[in-house]
This record gives sequence, structure tokens and C-alpha cells, in this order.
Amino acid sequence: MSIPQNILEIRKHIPSHVKLVCVSKFHPNETVLEAYQYGERVFGESKVQELCGKFETLPKDISWHFIGHLQTNKIKFIVPFVELIHGVDSYKLLEEINKQALKAGKTVNCLLQIHIAKEDTKFGFSEEELLQTLSEGKWKELSGINICGLMGMATYTDNRDQIRAEFKGLKALLDQVKKLYFSDMASFCELSMGMSDDYQLAIEEGSTLVRIGSSIFGHREY
Ligand SMILES: *Cc1c(COP(=O)(O)O)cnc(C)c1O
Repeated sequence: MSIPQNILEIRKHIPSHVKLVCVSKFHPNETVLEAYQYGERVFGESKVQELCGKFETLPKDISWHFIGHLQTNKIKFIVPFVELIHGVDSYKLLEEINKQALKAGKTVNCLLQIHIAKEDTKFGFSEEELLQTLSEGKWKELSGINICGLMGMATYTDNRDQIRAEFKGLKALLDQVKKLYFSDMASFCELSMGMSDDYQLAIEEGSTLVRIGSSIFGHREY
């Protein structure tokens, strides 16, 4: 199927309160533009260099999300233009983003990544680490950071019940920390979960941001 047909099909399953992040990593500009011309404006990338290259050369009304694992020495390259960083997985990274944000005179929107999968390969805070970090309160002094919610990736498995349970757990954690630490912050409301194979489950469990790549753009050549 063509990219417009894929988007049309996916959009049928996405309610209006859920944002679609078109994950364009490893696809060339011409491919990204097909989705852009069909009306999509939010794109996700997982490599800093690739993101910066696409930002330079593609239309300026694109909202760029960083969804990969961010290295501290590369933060400064994306801070000037990035709309949302999904995968902040340590307090140290949050501090470094804050530093670059203040230098650039900006506030950077971030999501804290939570390790919800039963796999070692994925990044993120454990539930305990998140609660510990938030209770220490130092994050409140990071005036260059706007924590907008949580992000997670489910286990890579065919077991739908397990995936659903992981998403449900993440939603419960979001609600818990919202109540404890962000009740007066309206912007703390985002839950980034769901990819090509599990986004419908994720939406049923409360996702507000789905990150979809291969179902839109097809297979990636790494
Ligand atoms: C690549 C990637 C996606 C998109 O995955 P698809 O299965 O192609 O939809 C979503 N989220 C993250 C963090 C990714 O790295």
C-alpha cells in the first residue's frame, strides 16, 4: 500500500485526542514528504544526526520529536528546535538537557521513559527509581525543563495480554505521579506508548501519543 493509504487506514483507529508521531527514521526526505503532503506534521527520529539533517532540509512547520536514546554530548544539537524528547531515562540526562536549554534560552518538553518491558534491552527508569527521583524534588529546580508525562515500550512479544498489562501499569503510574507531583501542572498529561504492532492496545489503555513507523513507511533498511 502507499503511504497515504497507510496513513488513512491508521488514522481510522486514532481518536482525536491521540497524537500520531510518524516515525521516519532511516527513511529519506522524499518518503517523509509523502506523509507531509498528505497532511502529517509530527515526525519522530531516533538519531541526532539524522534528525538535524532532516530539520535543515524539510519544511519548517514540521514538529520534530526525538524518540531515541539521547547521548549527553549531542543534546545541544537538537535543543534549539525539538518539540518533545520522549526517552529521558535518567536524572543526569534531565540535568544535561536543562543545562543546554538554559543556554539556548528555551524550555524543553520531555517525557520520562519508564522500563515497563520484561526485557533487559530497553532503557528507562524503573517504577521505584521514578518515584525516588520525583520525591527527592531536585527536578523542580530545572527551569529549562517541562516534564510533560511518561513514555514506555512494551515487551516484544505476541502475548497481547502481557502487552496490555504493561500499558495498563504505565497508565496507572502516570495517574499516580500526576496526583502526587504534577496536580497543578496541566501540561503533565502525555502518555507516549504504542508502535505499529500495538498502538490500538495502547490507545485503549490511555495512550495520548502513538509512535508509528513501519506501518506508515514500510520496512526500514538499517
Ligand atoms: C522505531 C521506533 C518506533 C516505531 O516502530 P514501528 O514498529 O516501526 O512502528 C517507535 N518508538 C520507538 C522508541 C522507536 O525506536
